[in-house]
Amino acid sequence: MSPEPTLSKLTLSKIPLVSTRNAACHCEQLRLTVEGEPVRVSICHCLACQRRTGSVFGVQARFDAEQVTTEGASRQYVRVSDDGEKGTFHFCPDCGATVFYTAEARPGIVVSVGAFADPSFPAPTMSAWEERRHSWLRLPDDIEHVS
Ligand SMILES: [Zn+2]
Ligand SMILES: [Zn+2]
Repeated sequence: MSPEPTLSKLTLSKIPLVSTRNAACHCEQLRLTVEGEPVRVSICHCLACQRRTGSVFGVQARFDAEQVTTEGASRQYVRVSDDGEKGTFHFCPDCGATVFYTAEARPGIVVSVGAFADPSFPAPTMSAWEERRHSWLRLPDDIEHVS
């Protein structure tokens, strides 16, 4: 018997199981691929995120920069928050949807969870700026609350 089947099985077991997900803007011109799981998924109720998303809260997933590959043209909007943190928001010049952003104070690339258009995407584990939360909005019982 040849030892080859055993060898190839060993080789296969060494390949890490990395999931790949795709995100896109509304018109799908600006696209992005992430490899592996997000570092963190969070909800933000701040008024800037409400304006940014056009929804009543933002849901975003942070990835390490090396997990993310972007494709297509984007324009940038730079916003300095009330506490002086600079964020650069990348949106599609054709449809205007923000797909991802970077924050000067924190490493990584933050992707709008809605851009994945995937209802099975991992749920947020953190909720921020709850003093701006719309009163009707209910959150998961086990979510971490950050003011
Ligand atoms: Zn677009
Ligand atoms: Zn926010």
